[in-house]
Amino acid sequence: MNALKSGRVEVGRIEVITGPMFSGKSEELIRRLKRARIARQRVACFKPDIDLRYHRTAIASHSAQTHEAVTVPNVSHLRQALYQQLPDVEVIGIDEAQFFDASIVQLTGELVHLGKRIIIAGLDTTFTGDPFGPIPALMAIADEVTKLSAVCIVCGSPAIHTQRLGASRELVVVGAAGIYEARCRACFRPYLDAPENEQLDLPEAI
Ligand code: ADP
Ligand code: MG
Ligand code: ZN
Repeated sequence: MNALKSGRVEVGRIEVITGPMFSGKSEELIRRLKRARIARQRVACFKPDIDLRYHRTAIASHSAQTHEAVTVPNVSHLRQALYQQLPDVEVIGIDEAQFFDASIVQLTGELVHLGKRIIIAGLDTTFTGDPFGPIPALMAIADEVTKLSAVCIVCGSPAIHTQRLGASRELVVVGAAGIYEARCRACFRPYLDAPENEQLDLPEAI
């Protein structure tokens, strides 16, 4: 809002919540958005429509917590949806941001310049352990990065990786239990089921 408050100019803020699947990114995003609402701030939440688990009109955690959200097919729709609501919105939440293309970085920059608080949750790495889409760039421009770990399903240590179970080579196979599990660095087997020298099947970012 760039309003003067107790002598200080209020500026925007970028927060990134990242880590592997099951690390509590959505839970943490929902927690922050609920607290913002308690503080009577106007909140808008978005997610890409690539992930239609659970709800079309909400984000959801694996622990069944939810927060209402608008589903958008790509960054230009996100931009359009947002600019329709601005300047009413003060806090913007985005879940599963790894599925958006690089233009989300510029949009985030514009929003923070307008004094908004943007809270972005997304996977930092793919199931092969490589940086995932725009998340590394968003981490670089963030005011604060929260890197969460899950619990390794094999040994119980803190898990930083998402292990894909089964032989699919597509980057995006949406789902959770039974398809993916959290693994620590020692237990992670990125290419366990891959035929040798097979190329990753990379989808277009949206
Ligand atoms: P993310 O958005 O990072 O995938 P969620 O916020 O949806 O994570 O879910 C986190 C919740 O998942 C935990 O609070 C816990 O209830 C559950 N959970 C299931 N498996 C695991 C695991 N291996 N490690 C940690 N939490 C797990
Ligand atoms: Mg999540
Ligand atoms: Zn382990």
